[in-house]
Amino acid sequence: GVSPKALTEHHEKVEGDRFRPSDDDPRAIRSVGVIGGGTAGYMTALALKTKRPWLDVTLVESKEIPIIGVGEATVSYMVMFMHHFLGIDPMELYRKVEPTWKLGIKFDWGPDPDGFMATFDWHHHSIGALGALEEDNTVNGFTVQSLMMMADRAAVYKIGDKNVSLMKYLPFAYHLDNARFVAFLTELAAERGVKHVEARLEDVVLNGEEWVDHVRTSDGRQLSYDFYVDCTGFRSMLLGKALGTGFHSYADTLFTDSAVTGNLEHGGHLKPYTTATTMNAGWTWNIPTPQSDHLGYVYASGALSDEEAAKELTEKFPGIEGLRQVRFRSGRHDKAWRGNVMAIGNSYAFVEPLESTGLLMIALAVQTLTSVLPASWEDQAVREVVNRGLGQRWDAIRWFLGIHYKFNTRLDTEFWKDVRDRCDVSGFQPLMELYQNGAPLTRRDPYILDLALGAAPTFFGLAGIDNILLGQKVPARLLKRAEPIEDWRARRKAADALVAKAMTQAEALHAFTTDPELNTQLLNDFDSWAGRHIAGYIGML
Ligand code: FAD
Repeated sequence: GVSPKALTEHHEKVEGDRFRPSDDDPRAIRSVGVIGGGTAGYMTALALKTKRPWLDVTLVESKEIPIIGVGEATVSYMVMFMHHFLGIDPMELYRKVEPTWKLGIKFDWGPDPDGFMATFDWHHHSIGALGALEEDNTVNGFTVQSLMMMADRAAVYKIGDKNVSLMKYLPFAYHLDNARFVAFLTELAAERGVKHVEARLEDVVLNGEEWVDHVRTSDGRQLSYDFYVDCTGFRSMLLGKALGTGFHSYADTLFTDSAVTGNLEHGGHLKPYTTATTMNAGWTWNIPTPQSDHLGYVYASGALSDEEAAKELTEKFPGIEGLRQVRFRSGRHDKAWRGNVMAIGNSYAFVEPLESTGLLMIALAVQTLTSVLPASWEDQAVREVVNRGLGQRWDAIRWFLGIHYKFNTRLDTEFWKDVRDRCDVSGFQPLMELYQNGAPLTRRDPYILDLALGAAPTFFGLAGIDNILLGQKVPARLLKRAEPIEDWRARRKAADALVAKAMTQAEALHAFTTDPELNTQLLNDFDSWAGRHIAGYIGML
């Protein structure tokens, strides 16, 4: 029988493959051309083939035009996206891509000489920011992951001869060596039946203002598809160039437009986090891989020449090798989807990599496309929702990155004085008022938070903002703790005990590479942050 309680819950099921076109529909969408073979192109092609196996998916790329080739720090959402959405086997990923773990970002940033940790468990407040500020005058150590970062540990333990992992309670992300990751995706795409065309796109032939009829390649071929995904990187061959879509620059907030990258020996010391170090005209990332640390100085070419940037990087990190220059622009096109073209990746939008949002935003766009691409051009397309929704998300990152820059008091170079003076964070202003009025924001009453979230877009939520502003010691009236400090100290002591017995990252990675049970717990357990039921809840299954 059906219980009264069951009658108050959702049960009605809907068909999973509602987007399969009927055989006799002349306007059906059966073929998709993904133009570009960077991470955007491969993730898009794989997702389309995985979620809609009946589609004929072709990836077109030119080896003459190299991929951007950087982009290696990610966020915890990507763990779920790769394994649940794309169906990547974790053991295979560990074997072939050799990811390392990112528990958060260590910002060498703001007034504290030690900087501050921004972790993925920041929303937990497990130990407590107010207690940490009172005891240590810093937010460091306000969550378990931040203590793990400070001690260079990860929450995996050896008990007897058994591996015990707490990683299912502590969100983390992967660092992915770009060359190995793209090679892995390429292999996977071929295995899953994505067709591959090696050709240089020369020309896009339109049929009407917003419709691509076919594309022409430099070797004289004509390629025609029902739907096109523009993954051509900053060239934006379809959305930008052919369709002439307007561009909305973020240059008033994000002043950087260049990077110089290189590799540095780490002598086997594998840090479990990304580091972001303030530099004279920007900042440098440090992303550990098993073989070496990958570094990149992100700077503003208006404030520093390429030679000066290379010199500063080399002086700060002696021994760095293989320097390579990259140019970029921060901003988004007015629309991602027009007619029969959607742009995903840098061809649509990009922001500088301070919060490692590149792959995440590709994943969100891919998820969007696979959930709304119509079966047929007879059906209603949902371009407005997609264009507004994605646009708002990008704008939210802009403001979130803006507050990292605007309030960084670490250096007094011309660049940083200019940034503090001119960096536009206007979209964030309502939340700034609320923060100054009483912080941490996450401890304010839920009603005002709901109101505030409608008044200003956030990207990693209010906890992310607390972490960045409190970490940089941006003045605010602090809320009062309603517990004796001894309670905070007891939690801190318990966390310290967990940290003391935890493995180094190299040991923990070895455990995850050799013991499949640990990944199974992470991806299946009901109480895991990355478990299947959470994946289902956010539309990944
Ligand atoms: P690309 O890699 O540029 O690929 C473009 C593809 O299009 C290539 O295959 C090329 O051959 C093809 N193509 C172009 N024109 C033609 C043509 N005419 N004919 C045929 N093929 C063509 N992201 C993160 O998640 N974390 C990070 O830490 C991070 N750091 C970054 C640091 C920097 C400095 C930059 C610039 C980006 C960073 N990113 C990061 C973002 C990420 O690396 C890229 O944005 C992401 O890889 C998406 O690139 P893409 O696939 O859109 O473009």
